[in-house]
Amino acid sequence: MPDLLIAAARVVDPFNGIDEIADVLISRGRIAKVGRGLSRDGKEVIEASGMVLSPGFLELHAHLREPGDEDAETLETGLASALRGGYTAVCCMPNTRPPLDNPAVISGLWARARDMGLADLYVIGCVTRGREGRELSDMAMMNACEARVRAFSDDGAAVEDAGVMRLALQYAAAFGGLIISHPEDTRLSRGGQVNEGAVSTALGLRGIPALAEEVVVARDILLAEETGCRLHLAHLSTARSVNMVRDAKARGVRVTAEVTPHHLVLNESDIPGYDTSYKMNPPLRTPEDVAALREGLRDGTIDAIATDHAPHRCEDKEKEFDHAPFGVVGMESAFPVLFRELVESDEIPLERLLGALTRGPAEVMDLRPPEYGAGIVVGARADMVLLNLEEEWIMDASRFVSKGRNCPFHGRSVKGRVAYTVKNGRVVYAHEDGRG
Ligand SMILES: [Zn+2]
Repeated sequence: MPDLLIAAARVVDPFNGIDEIADVLISRGRIAKVGRGLSRDGKEVIEASGMVLSPGFLELHAHLREPGDEDAETLETGLASALRGGYTAVCCMPNTRPPLDNPAVISGLWARARDMGLADLYVIGCVTRGREGRELSDMAMMNACEARVRAFSDDGAAVEDAGVMRLALQYAAAFGGLIISHPEDTRLSRGGQVNEGAVSTALGLRGIPALAEEVVVARDILLAEETGCRLHLAHLSTARSVNMVRDAKARGVRVTAEVTPHHLVLNESDIPGYDTSYKMNPPLRTPEDVAALREGLRDGTIDAIATDHAPHRCEDKEKEFDHAPFGVVGMESAFPVLFRELVESDEIPLERLLGALTRGPAEVMDLRPPEYGAGIVVGARADMVLLNLEEEWIMDASRFVSKGRNCPFHGRSVKGRVAYTVKNGRVVYAHEDGRG
């Protein structure tokens, strides 16, 4: 394999605070040189003038559907979808069939992913056995196995019993584990389809109140504060949730939070009737909530952007709105949607957006070099994404590598394209119209 030279890119590296024009030379999977005017002799060259080179993104929250729902997604299509979206590492949620609640099933999945040579996989284990919310799973054993599980979640549902959640936090704290909360009180949300309010009334659908999320955010922050365990709150969607996290961080609670692209970009009034590509949990909220989520992202209250990539079989999503499953696919649409809606509109600086896709999620997962997060410096493993920020295009879900087609951004005008994804020094994805 010849050495690869990425020439004259704008290198934006949130891990090392770098933002400069440079050539980056990759040799044997690693970054060998960074500088201006590097020799091109004998190198494969990507002309990257005008493009941005970032560390590969880290997806904190993906549903890859294996085992059990390979019709909706497989490990292979999910990880290939990640590369197409610029993600070189993915954390997958354990709400599969059966759930990922023990070292044997997790190690098997992890080893298969490793052998595929696509994006790196970090498996999130269940908090409770069978995701049933009753007995704790053996988190320490999952942490000690080859797959090194470091985060645990019953995502898809909250751990309903506060006593079990408290025990889980105490147990995880003992070995430095992270508990990821899916904040939803189903006694408040049950039967709901969209945000409770004017839109649910207009559509004649049962609503999911903001409160269904907020009571669990409040509860889990208190439990984290008492136990001292690290807590991460998944897919925040309301202004009050953001305010609670901001207050908790100010008083030293070890809490982090993520937001999805769809909650940052869309609100409930964007739902075009009964299109199930807009059915997700938590639901799209109000414009005021969207503004608060953006403010939380700007000021660092929200640490990371995670897509909650949730592919479903087309025939399932084609059911009537109130019978279709919740969830949308996200990894292949995230960057171009966010760049157009947040960066081009001057709401969020590019560096902050890239930080929330790389360094933020790495800090949440406590991932460090050499595993992830060395950045774009000599000696680092060459896991990077090259972004063409000039290209305007129409998002087309039919071209996704993911098996999922349930994307609310389908048909939308976007800007910014993942031109190349480089993993272990190899070009693992190249957009066919990309330059170079
Ligand atoms: Zn969830």
